[in-house]
Amino acid sequence: MNFNLAVILRETALDSPGRPAILYPGGSLTYAELDGLSDLVAASLQASGIRPGDAVALQLPNIPEFVVAYFGILKAGGAAVPVNIMLKAPEVAFILGDSAAKILITWGGALDHALTGAASAGVSEIYAVGGSDDERAISFSRLLAVATASGRLAERKPDDTAVIMYTSGTTGQPKGAELTHLQLYMNADVPGRLFDVQPADVVITVLPLFHVFGLSSILNVCVRFGCTMSLIPRFDPAVVLEAIQRDRATIFEGVPAMFISLLSYPDLDSHDVSSLRVAISGGASIPADVLDAFEKRFGIPVLEGYGLTETASTVTFNKNASDRRIYSVGKPIWGTETEIWSEDGKALPPGKDNIGEVVTRGLHVMKGYLNQAEATARAFAGGWFHTGDLGYFDEDGFLFIVGRAKELIIRGGYNVYPLEIENVLRAHPAVVEAAVIGMPHERMGEEIMAVVVPRPGTQVTAPELTAFCKERLAAYKYPRVIEFRAEMPKNTLGKVLKDELLPAAVRSAG
Ligand code: ATP
Repeated sequence: MNFNLAVILRETALDSPGRPAILYPGGSLTYAELDGLSDLVAASLQASGIRPGDAVALQLPNIPEFVVAYFGILKAGGAAVPVNIMLKAPEVAFILGDSAAKILITWGGALDHALTGAASAGVSEIYAVGGSDDERAISFSRLLAVATASGRLAERKPDDTAVIMYTSGTTGQPKGAELTHLQLYMNADVPGRLFDVQPADVVITVLPLFHVFGLSSILNVCVRFGCTMSLIPRFDPAVVLEAIQRDRATIFEGVPAMFISLLSYPDLDSHDVSSLRVAISGGASIPADVLDAFEKRFGIPVLEGYGLTETASTVTFNKNASDRRIYSVGKPIWGTETEIWSEDGKALPPGKDNIGEVVTRGLHVMKGYLNQAEATARAFAGGWFHTGDLGYFDEDGFLFIVGRAKELIIRGGYNVYPLEIENVLRAHPAVVEAAVIGMPHERMGEEIMAVVVPRPGTQVTAPELTAFCKERLAAYKYPRVIEFRAEMPKNTLGKVLKDELLPAAVRSAG
């Protein structure tokens, strides 16, 4: 029996060869074409000596070559190592070295850092899309230049590693999560059924495919169910709105920053978005006002889900508009269990006051962190995977995330959840974005600091915002320091980099 994840592509290509798999600004690829091209990549990789289990790094934006190369690597039996296109040379070197990648597939836009990183990691076989005139890399087209490909899929077992996905490193050195064929298959099949994905669906694919949310919840889901991806290499609200209109897209998946940006796009009204039937939000908590405004303006439900790299990706999901709890991240998906644990490892009953760490186990969880036995043992203490997130269940089994354990602020002995304060600040009409962090403080242990991005064209002062918060929050919770910034530092996925918000003096002391 072959559990190779690439079977999802082979099956869809056999069932619906002429259906469009990918739409991109310059054209389209059918499922038969995608299957054939990835066979060629697989054959070339095998000719280059790639054997089952070997790591092949893939550093591309959302362009057709990403999808072709990804399935080529899987078909050859390799483990795909997606690499963020924004990484600098030392970061690329770390991932290539740690994963022992044999080959790197990259692109012109990242070439300098990719080549320097590859050189220090000792990776010499490099293919580049759009880098054909650069003699330091071989053109990607050479991977498609074999005369024939056998179309065979390397035999893989359920527990073999299909993807080594590095955590984004917002909480320290990236770790390579080993995601297995069965785990990824299950995380395409189950969420796809929950989204009620149909072959006629066209999914806006602007979440980066090198991140688990895009890879698992869009790419693998679409290929499993034979729907169409509308590929967008870089988030820009105008480009997304044009793609929705041009491709008659039915599903939008994004992180909250994308929802915020689409809603505030000045030319929104001149686009026809009536083809959309549902939006899916994940990756970070979507502010309640953004969810409400998006549903109203677009006339579709916004379903929120919760997941991590290690769970590839969905842990919980709001099934549909009639089986959801608004502002919650939904219920555990099939084949999984999720609980809330106290610090001493006891499962807590449901209830708003029973906040603890979210732990989960089941088919959706990774094998472990590559080369990190200790970190893996810590993450699986007690036999459950520890997410590092804090939350609670309500009586009906819906999960609410209140923040990351690491971001919890303990001020004078009181627990303060940044998300609660961020939501209050965001409710002020002059605030577009807010992020709340704890600053070291001699007497209090930690003091509450808020960084706020004001709405263009409005005037607001720190004392006004303080007064606004004092009216709505207990005295120990309102921010004592408020700083204004024109924009928030964010990672490629649009998540706020909270470590960069601390005043420089505090950061360097820490
Ligand atoms: P690193 O693990 O390196 O710090 P990261 O946390 O950004 O990086 P991901 O695996 O991309 O890595 O993100 C998972 C985290 O995103 C979760 O642990 C959780 O904190 C947050 N998250 C995801 N979905 C939601 C959601 N719907 N609501 C609140 N938080 C969410």
